[in-house]
Amino acid sequence: MLAIIILGLYTLTNDALHIKDAENGLGCNGICFGCNGQLLANQGKKRDWYFSHHIESFCTGGLETALHKLAKQIIVESKEMILPKYGKIRYQNAILEKTSYIYTRCFSKYS
Ligand SMILES: [Zn+2]
Repeated sequence: MLAIIILGLYTLTNDALHIKDAENGLGCNGICFGCNGQLLANQGKKRDWYFSHHIESFCTGGLETALHKLAKQIIVESKEMILPKYGKIRYQNAILEKTSYIYTRCFSKYS
């Protein structure tokens, strides 16, 4: 059974995108956290909404990566959080880590 995907990466802002905030179809501008494949938002009336890969894939959607990204967004956009074990934790000035890109330059031995 394929995983049900409810979070994708919104390519226009580089933020996590929940299926409930997406536009239906390919207009969602989402890609998969697991494989970077283009996502299709399925928002029908009979089933719970979900993303599917535009091109069939056996990818599971990268849920852990998606939740990590979403949690960081929520922390930055909020000033407190409630954790079941610790109760309410207040904080301020949370800053989203900048994405670091590692560029690898390949050299051919014979160039
Ligand atoms: Zn994928």
